[in-house]
Amino acid sequence: MINRICVYCASSNQVASKYFDAARTLGEMLALEKISVVYGGGATGLMGELATSALRAGGHVIGIMPDFMREVEWAHREVKEFLFVGDMHERKKKFLEYSDALVALPGGCGTFEELLEAITLKRLGLFLKPIVIFNQDGYYNPLLEMLNRAVAEKFMGENHKDIWKAVDRVEDILPAIRETPDWNADALHQARLL
Ligand code: AMP
Repeated sequence: MINRICVYCASSNQVASKYFDAARTLGEMLALEKISVVYGGGATGLMGELATSALRAGGHVIGIMPDFMREVEWAHREVKEFLFVGDMHERKKKFLEYSDALVALPGGCGTFEELLEAITLKRLGLFLKPIVIFNQDGYYNPLLEMLNRAVAEKFMGENHKDIWKAVDRVEDILPAIRETPDWNADALHQARLL
């Protein structure tokens, strides 16, 4: 049962409007499906758009933010449910604990880092839930090529390609999550290529 989805996405306000449009569509879709949005708690960029659209469509949003960001007033004012944590590491841990699935929308280094940490933990069997990459207009092609290259050159195993699923259309995000079986808790024993 998917009750809460964590969305990693950009904090930048300067990206093209098509990225805001997709974040808004996803926020509305999650509200409609009564799925809570778990996210970084920010008010700017795709983060802000996602939270605002979900709330305005009657959805539920949980922000998870380190104290230093609250102190500089980065927290979204309309979000009522917040978990403030000590640092960025704790925040990433909470994202995973709180969520039944992860989605990465386009973003910058913060989004990449969160996504790659989740992929790494899943490879080790420490996180078992679906990870969906929204490859809007091929934004994530270079990252997907790098991951595929890591598999092709045996830095990772063929089985590791099932850790994530990339989709091209925002409407395919939820079906991809629902079609993904839980990862094998025994993954640790297949994490190394010997
Ligand atoms: P990025 O994809 O580089 O924009 O990073 C998004 C992530 O960066 C968020 O999850 C946060 O870790 C952090 N971040 C950067 N700026 C903000 C902000 N204004 N509000 C909240 N989180 C932010």
